[in-house]
Amino acid sequence: MHINDAVFLEDLCPKFRFRQWRKSIHKFTGKSCIYCGKPSESIDHVLPRSQGGLSTTENCVPACLSCNGDKSDENALYWYRRQKFYDPRRAMAIRAWLEGDLRLAIRLLQWANPKSKLNNKNYEQDESKYEAA
Ligand SMILES: [Zn+2]
Repeated sequence: MHINDAVFLEDLCPKFRFRQWRKSIHKFTGKSCIYCGKPSESIDHVLPRSQGGLSTTENCVPACLSCNGDKSDENALYWYRRQKFYDPRRAMAIRAWLEGDLRLAIRLLQWANPKSKLNNKNYEQDESKYEAA
């Protein structure tokens, strides 16, 4: 048997993979909304699907239901600028996220909200934790 023939659970079950992916997105921000910092209950498409936005990690951010619903089909960065809780550091974090630089995004979010539980541990120690188990 060729190694490429190996079957992975997540390939057999796309739903499982989707759930894992959603979970990992929330983990990046310590389950807080990237816009306002409240608990994230949903995944928001920064560039809405109606405008061709893809369901990739770069285009999907953790958001609370209120931000997600309020933003609706608008471009996230334009929408965010008008919010009362607008914070330029968060705006930079969103931009870094869009560019796929999650490490920088997390750092900017920490800067915006130093008291939050959010830390790079989630991001950096993930694999070692699984190895130890
Ligand atoms: Zn929010």
